Amino acid sequence: MASRKVRMGMDDYLVIGAGLVGLATARAIIEKVPDARITVLEKAADVATAQSGHNSGVIHAGIYYAPGSLKAELCRQGRIETVEFCERYGIPHSLVGKLIVATDETSRARLDDLERRSIENRIVVERIGAGALAELEPNVQGVAALLSPTTGIVDYRRIASAMCDELTAAGVTLRFNTEVTSIAEEQGLDGGAVRVRTAAGGERAARRLVACAGLQADRVARIAGIPIDFRIVPFRGEYFELPAERHDFVKHLIYPVPDPSMPFLGVHISPTIDGRVTVGPNAVLGWAREGYPRGSIRPSDVFDFATYVGFWRMAAHNVRPAAIEMRNSLFASGYLRECHKYAPSLTLSDLGTRSAGIRAQAVRRDGSFIEDFHVERTARQIHVGNAPSPAATSSIPIGRMIATLLLDGVG
Ligand SMILES: Cc1cc2nc3c(=O)[nH]c(=O)nc-3n(C[C@H](O)[C@H](O)[C@H](O)COP(=O)(O)OP(=O)(O)OC[C@H]3O[C@@H](n4cnc5c(N)ncnc54)[C@H](O)[C@@H]3O)c2cc1C
Repeated sequence: MASRKVRMGMDDYLVIGAGLVGLATARAIIEKVPDARITVLEKAADVATAQSGHNSGVIHAGIYYAPGSLKAELCRQGRIETVEFCERYGIPHSLVGKLIVATDETSRARLDDLERRSIENRIVVERIGAGALAELEPNVQGVAALLSPTTGIVDYRRIASAMCDELTAAGVTLRFNTEVTSIAEEQGLDGGAVRVRTAAGGERAARRLVACAGLQADRVARIAGIPIDFRIVPFRGEYFELPAERHDFVKHLIYPVPDPSMPFLGVHISPTIDGRVTVGPNAVLGWAREGYPRGSIRPSDVFDFATYVGFWRMAAHNVRPAAIEMRNSLFASGYLRECHKYAPSLTLSDLGTRSAGIRAQAVRRDGSFIEDFHVERTARQIHVGNAPSPAATSSIPIGRMIATLLLDGVG
């Protein structure tokens, strides 16, 4: 890089966040500029400790997303590249296929819409009837289903770890336990710089900065002085694991037809790549952005959404679904009722160990969800504002998109 000689000690690029999006971005930059000096700053002690390590492990095909949206385009491409990445590094994965199951006439009509959308998104699906569904999955019941044969499963922590190894081998520095607490963009000779301070009192500077801070995306954008029109609202997704004797309960991923008013896909049954079967996740308000144990509360996280008008507007539009989700979180019997719509033989005693992930969902001041992937840009910075599901599947092309924006010049 031209700046290299005059800027010893300064990075070319700083990346905040060692989740899949940050790692894939660093990877895409080094692919485009092999001699770039890049540092990834991560506040946790390892890669993928937040959303990237607490998800359903599904390699999505890209069925649901609005045609032409970033989600639709990057998920379709991301599925292909995720599978290639796994093959290159010997990461266990399996294209088990997914069944989206309609259980009544209302959901059958929505299944028709999904089938049309799949065709528009160029995703292969097969429509099957109740009989074929029962043959494929004796424990699942429905009036019709869409089979997506290219949907798969993986442990995304393995992918993050392989990306980390790749980056280290390419000369990228990863600094863990390094929380960025302030960001200042400086004009000046030589194209200016972005200077960051860390919680431990350290300071670093670079020509360009990318923030991929997931659940902290709004806060990191705000410390950079970027006037954002959204706030991250944490949605907790709780899973149950079926007992070992039920680990052959399903062969495919089993999903309900999603409620079009919600940005989440509904409680599904998922075989995992290590041979377990999970049921979940639901979607309840999270009282701590990064508090995974049940009952976690962080007052500053609650304060942030409770003082945000967009949160109350969103809540006002979703009183009924929120109440149902809350009830089902408190009482496993309610959760079970959701599963019984398509898996009637599950019992309360099948809902064993609980775990949880927490989704970062950007909500605008008017109370609407930002549906698509979203970035904010300044002259020298790109902040990923919204990268919810399917951003694990899509991380490789998301990283490439960000690297292209960076190298074409931000602002
Ligand atoms: C319950 C659940 C189920 C999901 N299921 C799927 C699925 O099956 N398939 C799929 O494709 N997607 C799924 N997703 C979505 C997917 O996991 C996320 O979209 C993706 O992991 C986002 O990656 P990220 O790098 O943007 O964020 P994260 O993984 O959250 O990483 C952000 C990183 O930034 C760090 N950070 C934050 N602030 C700072 C700071 N100030 N300084 C330094 N570091 C900082 C954090 O510590 C964290 O490591 C799911 C998500 C959840 C929560």
